[in-house]
This record gives sequence, C-alpha cells and structure tokens, in this order.
Amino acid sequence: MSPYRRYIIDHTLLESPEDVKHIKKKANWYTIVDEKPYRHGYSTSYRRCLTPKKADYKLSKVHLGICGSHIVGKNIAFKIIQQGYYWPVMKQDTMKFVKKCENCQVHSSIPHSLHMKLPTLQASWTFAQ
Ligand SMILES: [Zn+2]
Repeated sequence: MSPYRRYIIDHTLLESPEDVKHIKKKANWYTIVDEKPYRHGYSTSYRRCLTPKKADYKLSKVHLGICGSHIVGKNIAFKIIQQGYYWPVMKQDTMKFVKKCENCQVHSSIPHSLHMKLPTLQASWTFAQ
C-alpha cells in the first residue's frame, strides 16, 4: 500500500518528517470511494485515478481510437480528463506516447518557413501614431 493511500484511509504515516509534510499536502487532493482512488479539485468533479497500465490503455484508446484521430499532446490529456480519469504525470505521458506513434511522426505537418529575425519597426517621431 502506498503511503498516500495509507494516509487517506488510516491517517497513519511511517515516513520521515519531510516526507510526511509532502504526503499530507498532496493527499488532500485525493479520496477513496469504493476502494478506488479519486482526485478532486476546488471546482472540478471527481476523477478516477488510473494505474500506469490502465493509463497506457486509456492513452492508446483515445489517441488511436475507433476513427484513429491521432490528436496530440495536451489535447489527449484534456480529453481523458473530460472522460473523468486522471494520473499524476498524464501530460508528460501523452507527449511521450505521441513521440512513439509512427503515424504521427510521419504524417504530422512540418513548418516550412525559414528561421529569421523579426524586423524592428522604428517610429519617425516620438509618440507618433
Ligand atoms: Zn498518432
């Protein structure tokens, strides 16, 4: 049992004082309902926390999906949050997942403009409009 889960259920902590402070602060955002962890915010609904294995499955379902929409980056995380799921490193995981997707790497749009300095505009008179 993780220290977070143990603290939420029993309010017991066996870690060092520095870890206790960190765990207490983080654990306020989580609750256990029917033995399943949920995260909540001030104004957000409860979101079911997923294990890494289930998170990977959910990522592949949303990214590849029935129609294979191949949405990228934060949009995947936003869509998963809308469906009521959460895990702590979801944005980083979505970025990694898209980098591994071969279709996204081959068929994504590439900017063709050259890198150059932006020209500076100078006013001919002070406070000129
Ligand atoms: Zn893709």
